[in-house]
Amino acid sequence: MLGEKLSMGNNASVGGGAGNTDLLKKSNKLEFAVKMTCNSCVEQIRSSLNGIPGIHSVDVDLSTGSVVVDTVLPSHEIQHRIETTGKDAILRGVGSKEHKNLGAAVAMLGGESGFSAVGVHGIIRLTQIDETNCIIDGTIDGLSPGKHGLHVHECGDISNGCESVGDHFNPYGVNHGSPESDKTQRHAGDLGNVEAGVDGRAVFRIVDPILKVWDIIGRSIVVTDSEDDFGLGASEKSKVDGNSGHRLACGIIARSAGLFENSKKICACDGLTLWDEKNKPLAGNSRQNKPQQQEPTSSRL
Ligand SMILES: [Zn+2]
Repeated sequence: MLGEKLSMGNNASVGGGAGNTDLLKKSNKLEFAVKMTCNSCVEQIRSSLNGIPGIHSVDVDLSTGSVVVDTVLPSHEIQHRIETTGKDAILRGVGSKEHKNLGAAVAMLGGESGFSAVGVHGIIRLTQIDETNCIIDGTIDGLSPGKHGLHVHECGDISNGCESVGDHFNPYGVNHGSPESDKTQRHAGDLGNVEAGVDGRAVFRIVDPILKVWDIIGRSIVVTDSEDDFGLGASEKSKVDGNSGHRLACGIIARSAGLFENSKKICACDGLTLWDEKNKPLAGNSRQNKPQQQEPTSSRL
């Protein structure tokens, strides 16, 4: 993807904006709810995460059913490792290493909360880990193998699908560019490309020093059909959207829980527990349906 890339198995990638490979070392904390019943469960969880490059610390609390991981890996990777123990995990909160909650947000692409005409869907979490850096952590399914542009757009209006979300978020009035450029040579919303494997899934974690969570609540994120050329193409459109093609799926960016801010166990709206909800949509009639087969992208904040 961007800058130095760290491969972590099936299509997962890590990128850092502004050409600064030190950004790849910027960790954040992920808080998972995990069903644990005894100390042997705690040991199983610990051993599933111990010794993995990119995981800095693991705190497991049996009494609260909480697992807090300090890591530079995508949340999907951590969740997958916890679930190899046979226990379900739900990401409950994200935050900075220092436990400061400077802002966290989530966007559901496609599905019932977002829009996609072609069945592309995913979840992207944004966490402001300090005054400068924002982490964009996500999983998108249903893509064609290869690179696809990922951009924050100026509006959160999906009344006409992904065509009504406006242009790339561009508060400085500059041309489209690479996420590794400084803010005078890229849109703030230019997050570059994510790469899907043969299974159609892209898993990514980007550290971006230009985008700020507090600037983008209520805006949207779009994944495109084609690869972003970073404004280096010959056509005029390259300077506008990187020739990144048709908008495949989009979602509105909504504020979400920071670390330890989400104590919800039962949803007051319909009585579903955290665990009942695991594979249900955020809203809509199908919340009442029986749980569907587990999909990694269905976990939520
Ligand atoms: Zn752009």
